[in-house]
Amino acid sequence: MSEPAIEQTPDHEVVIIGAGVCGIYMLYRMLELGVDVTLLEKGDGLGGTWYWNRYPGARFDSESYTYGYSFSKEILEEWSWSEHFAAQPETLSYLNFVVDKLDLTSHMQFGCSLESARFDDQADCWQLTLQDGRTLTTRLLLTAIGMLSAATMPRIEGVESFEGESFHTYYWPQEPVVLEGKKVAIIGTGATGVQVIGEIADKVGELTVFQRRPNWCAPLHNGAIDDETQTRIKASYDAIFERCRETPGGFIHGPDRREFLEVPEEERLAFWEELYASPGFGVWLGNFRDVLVDPAPNAEYSKFIAAKIRARVDDPIIAEKLIPKDHGFGSRRVPMETNYYEAYNRPNVHLVDVNDTPIERITSAGIATSEREYEFDIIIYATGFDAITGAFDRVNITGLGGQTLRDKWRDGPVTYLGLQITGFPNLLTLAGPQSGSVTTNFPRGIEEAVDWTTALITHLREHGRTRIEATQEAEDEWTEHIKELFDGSLMATAESWFTGYNSNVEGHDKLRYMIYMGGAPRFRERLTEVADNGYEGFEIR
Ligand code: NAP
Repeated sequence: MSEPAIEQTPDHEVVIIGAGVCGIYMLYRMLELGVDVTLLEKGDGLGGTWYWNRYPGARFDSESYTYGYSFSKEILEEWSWSEHFAAQPETLSYLNFVVDKLDLTSHMQFGCSLESARFDDQADCWQLTLQDGRTLTTRLLLTAIGMLSAATMPRIEGVESFEGESFHTYYWPQEPVVLEGKKVAIIGTGATGVQVIGEIADKVGELTVFQRRPNWCAPLHNGAIDDETQTRIKASYDAIFERCRETPGGFIHGPDRREFLEVPEEERLAFWEELYASPGFGVWLGNFRDVLVDPAPNAEYSKFIAAKIRARVDDPIIAEKLIPKDHGFGSRRVPMETNYYEAYNRPNVHLVDVNDTPIERITSAGIATSEREYEFDIIIYATGFDAITGAFDRVNITGLGGQTLRDKWRDGPVTYLGLQITGFPNLLTLAGPQSGSVTTNFPRGIEEAVDWTTALITHLREHGRTRIEATQEAEDEWTEHIKELFDGSLMATAESWFTGYNSNVEGHDKLRYMIYMGGAPRFRERLTEVADNGYEGFEIR
């Protein structure tokens, strides 16, 4: 049943949700096009991921100069990254610099949390209700709500009862947290926990790490950018972005075309040593192609990395606990680290394996395991996110016939190109599940999605169209394609947010098809093809 028309002319042509890397660029492109647009942001400031994640150690795993926006030569020339892998405060400053430079702030509304969105079938527009009760209408609703923005706390009894300081890393306080001399616990050893541990181990009094499953981590090899390098980087931006366009992940690192077995052992080991000693994701993404596909080469590489961990951790029992046994290298997201393994050689750092001694509850004074009670001043929850679909699930999005997106995606997302959903006309999910942006160096992926969406909106305006919706056939075909690509990868074999797994969210303990594994160039080709064929797969009217 359709809702009655609320009005013929919506308040806005476009509403963008989220002022992170994606929302900022989308806003810029809409204003450039002369669209009546407003951006709603939940936080009190812009920056998305880089606004919220203020935990110690938060920094890029992408080379800084591959992370900035590529669309403005002026911005590229004026902004100088201080480190190869910039820390969160610098990235937040960068995004503020961009927004000031492009004069975007007056089009952003902060402290606006979207509570519900309901499509009006008669008026071809979305009716939005904010948490403060305000309502507004828009022809097109563009979500830039983040892939990792719905933080999840562990389901452990007593979390509320702790009387010291405690926070999820995503909600790290804006005011300084005094760590010196404190007894600190951290739960979680994903990319976030690994960054925190490496950064604070030598600053706190005692640090106790509660680990469930270890990850394969590798050294980031960060460093300052000197003047000469800065000049070289600025002169090479065209080549840098061209390189990023060619690689599956949108990084400067792409797979080595040789096969593992083609390369003699000595040469292979020398190559792996080189990867391990090089900065950034090369250690993960710059390997022989089959290492991330074929279990046998993957096992060899995992053995090589395990030896590195054993060499870096003094206590062999601790070293074994830090080496994953349930999945091969790179089948979950590889956390990049600085001093992570060395932290465990410090006398003030302790590892608790919760498989041996499970956490039973959080108490007013600390954490009780099956073995003993630990007392802490601070508990840090580095327990991750209800990834990719979580931010959508937290808004009541109702499409045609009263169907909610939450219900439609209950067993996993289904989309067309990761950008549109049948039954939810005029909703464009810019970095949604199953889109190419989710598995790429984020700004590189979202620039593609935003540019494509801008061209689509131009098309709609030029043809006086007010409605776009993916056909059921196109959605089925895309979702099937996602499954086929994913099932052939090693990623599908390891539980992680890439497979939609989160032990702290009801129902998220099974494989969901969240990400596109075809690589950025292939995704780009498909987007271009769809547009060139008159936006095939969409019904436009
Ligand atoms: P995550 O990878 O999902 O890690 C969460 C950790 O918490 C895991 O070690 C998990 O253990 C543990 N955990 C969850 N619930 C638990 C419980 N009840 N008891 C014990 N342990 C529990 O989350 P994340 O570290 O925040 O990273 C998420 C993603 O954010 C990364 O993969 C990355 O894409 C992004 N990130 C990026 C950067 C960067 O670019 N520099 C930095 C940080 C994060 P199990 O593994 O056993 O589930």
